[in-house]
Amino acid sequence: MNPRSDIPLIDLAVQHASIRDEIDAAIAGVIDSSNFILGDEVTSFEREFARYCGCPLAVGCASGSDAILLALMACGVGPGDEVICPSYSFFATASAISRLGARPVFADIASPSYDMDPNHARALALSCTRLRAILTVDLFGQVSSIDAFLRLSQDFQVPLIEDAAQSVGARDSQEQRAGSRATIGCFSLYPSKNLGAMGDAGILTTASAELAQRLRELRVHGARSQYLHSAVGINSRLDALHAAVLRVKLPHLDSWTKTRRENAAYYDRGFTAAGAGTADASLDRTALSLLIPSARPAPAEHVYHQYVIRVPAKRRDDLSAHLRRQGIETAVYYPIGLHEQPCFATLGSDRASLPNTEIATRQALALPVHPGLQRSQLDRVLQEVVGFFREAH
Ligand SMILES: *Cc1c(COP(=O)(O)O)cnc(C)c1O
Repeated sequence: MNPRSDIPLIDLAVQHASIRDEIDAAIAGVIDSSNFILGDEVTSFEREFARYCGCPLAVGCASGSDAILLALMACGVGPGDEVICPSYSFFATASAISRLGARPVFADIASPSYDMDPNHARALALSCTRLRAILTVDLFGQVSSIDAFLRLSQDFQVPLIEDAAQSVGARDSQEQRAGSRATIGCFSLYPSKNLGAMGDAGILTTASAELAQRLRELRVHGARSQYLHSAVGINSRLDALHAAVLRVKLPHLDSWTKTRRENAAYYDRGFTAAGAGTADASLDRTALSLLIPSARPAPAEHVYHQYVIRVPAKRRDDLSAHLRRQGIETAVYYPIGLHEQPCFATLGSDRASLPNTEIATRQALALPVHPGLQRSQLDRVLQEVVGFFREAH
């Protein structure tokens, strides 16, 4: 975080101040129990998290990255297999596939949203010879085209894994929550995520008792019982301290999400009134060279992990620098598509063209939208962004 920014992208101090006593008591309880790995706090959190997501089962683990790795392992992904995933995502989406010796097959996103394009994913699936899973990402806090991906996974008889690291609590067009309809949902509980632990943590959701059992074994080195290993797993357990803190935070999540959604709606109104286009408009035909994010219509619910605007590529870095000088922190998620990462060059995918991904990497900019923001801070962000384009810097 930029120490000089008075409007940071995330402000956990505000969040923790309101529930500090409860957190202190929860941490003290774990210290008194001297039970630090898995145990009752973790089991209780798993039960509460599953209920929150509307999914029968949840299995805690050490991070969101491990959640994706464990999900792929539980689905039997191994060397030489192919897994379709979007190129426009955080690195962990694809690295989990590579770490198992499998090959990420990168699909483009479906502009104006940021999710994987189901049509492109289907075309890629037809050209795969060893397709083993489809990995969709709910980027920025909105459930991806889950119905289309469920159909794809049925048609090709492969599991659907949902990287829901950024979308906890989001609802899809059927009013179902993120992570509840895929074969396995993967969540990160990294501190800056909408529901964050006080360190690294993650959790998986599934409706399958068999998969849940396999995940519980894989997170403890594949042990079915002590010192009896049915598979080679990893060490990826959820700590009781994190679970205890998360149990304090979970009941507040919906109210924090509500504030994120209100902040986003406030930006939407302010930018639209100033001449910004909606996400499917053409950037050069809007009065203000800015597009607001696209949100699926109700009953779907975006949880705005990030509020991402589109601005002309050649102005984006200047806008970000201008805002930084005004103490407003912004971020670029993500400046390079995964298909263009040097570590994936051997796949040959760096030479493929994923036009929507490439445009998004140059135009997207995330503005502060966290629930600790004051109305006056939202007004300042609006004023500085709109002023930047009006005054033709
Ligand atoms: C944060 C994130 C992850 C990884 O989670 P960690 O808990 O940081 O390991 C994976 N995928 C996406 C889309 C993320 O945003």
